Amino acid sequence: LTERLQNAMTKMRRKGKVSEADVKEMMREVRLALLEADVNFKVVKDFVKTVSARAVGSEVLDSLSPGQQVIKIVNEELTELMGGEQATIQIAPKAPTVVMMVGLQGAGKTTTAGKLASYLRKNQNKRPLLIAADIYRPAAIQQLETIGKQLDVPVFSMGDQVSPVEIARQGIEKAKAEHLDFVLIDTAGRLQIDETLMQELSDIKETAQPTEIFLVVDAMTGQEAANVASSFNEQLDITGVILTKLDGDTRGGAALSIRAVTGKPIKFTGSGEKLDALEPFYPDRMANRILGMGDMLTLIEKAQEDFDEKKSEEMMTKLRENSFDFNDFIEQMDQVSNMGPMEDLLKMIPGMSNVPGLDKLQIDPKDTARMKAIVLSMTPQERENPDLLSQSRRRRIARGSARPIAEVNRLIKQFNESKKMMSQMSKGNMNGMENLFGQ
Ligand code: GDP
Ligand code: MG
Repeated sequence: LTERLQNAMTKMRRKGKVSEADVKEMMREVRLALLEADVNFKVVKDFVKTVSARAVGSEVLDSLSPGQQVIKIVNEELTELMGGEQATIQIAPKAPTVVMMVGLQGAGKTTTAGKLASYLRKNQNKRPLLIAADIYRPAAIQQLETIGKQLDVPVFSMGDQVSPVEIARQGIEKAKAEHLDFVLIDTAGRLQIDETLMQELSDIKETAQPTEIFLVVDAMTGQEAANVASSFNEQLDITGVILTKLDGDTRGGAALSIRAVTGKPIKFTGSGEKLDALEPFYPDRMANRILGMGDMLTLIEKAQEDFDEKKSEEMMTKLRENSFDFNDFIEQMDQVSNMGPMEDLLKMIPGMSNVPGLDKLQIDPKDTARMKAIVLSMTPQERENPDLLSQSRRRRIARGSARPIAEVNRLIKQFNESKKMMSQMSKGNMNGMENLFGQ
């Protein structure tokens, strides 16, 4: 959460009961969060109105955690606004399905065409053909051919002396002759929208009769993205949007604006230069990202379902006081295994996915039984005070639990590492966690 949003929530929680004025204050923070995320101001205005109407309803006022409830409504409405369920690629009744990639120069059309080809083949078992119809940008054809080679996907090109319309036409013919399922036409872009470009794209559309016209938009371009999307949509009646460069530090407000302005679904997101860095668009995740809370909401829900709140509070205190011991360790392991892999859980916390050493915390569910056997072979004193665990004691434990000594050592090491890390989290990165778990 943004800090202000977090503060507003905490304040509300303390009150126990909320008034309309409280909701209003909260909404002001939501509004700011959205504007900071580069969402178009008109979109924000409409949105806040919708949410406020819902938020002053009994749904929130009667609930035990109104702050969270408001966030939940905001999240639900954001998700709804971005299209609810995620969209998929439409398939033409007769193969090949033609997909046209359009967008400004540098948005990521060529790269995304490659990613999409790879995605279709890997996830849907389709056979795609890439068509190089950008004859203007130097080396654009070669770029696509290189991508094709990397992926082992065929690329159709005719050099830069033939018109893009003709290239598209012949490429589709070739796909038909070879019974390929998909053609992805990589078109030219410009730094800015101009008539010539739009005319050319219209001509290609006319000839290629695409089932999908994907507008590729750089998410980093913020407000401008909505204007670009709006123009392309007016001229070409696009069918969907692919948002690239979400690996950057943008909050992704463009997603919201684009959807609101064009009414067209965002279908995929790109998050890296590598050719597998393409994902279907998840409106709910994007909603969280826009609000600046990572997948915090999912975490809240999971935590509420699976954690005994009182126990968690104790755990947090222990972590802070650094008195976390092996008894807590097994208890926590049991809880965590109910919640899914520890690693996944930690990754949902904003900023955590980049923490070095996170991978070391990986716990294989099959291992937990063995770990438990080891811990149970410790004496109660040893469990409470892991510093007692000398080499001779470790050997005894290994014998008692019928596990190799190396495994005992590994467990103790892992315990110490995770203790250290959790203690850091409880002090620093995870300020919010104690509120969440201990409210
Ligand atoms: P085009 O002009 O629209 O065809 O754009 P390109 O496909 O040539 O991409 C322009 C630049 O953006 C290239 O350096 C790509 O590697 C990079 N790029 C494309 N998509 C992404 C993405 O999702 N993340 C990042 N970090 N870079 C991307
Ligand atoms: Mg290109």
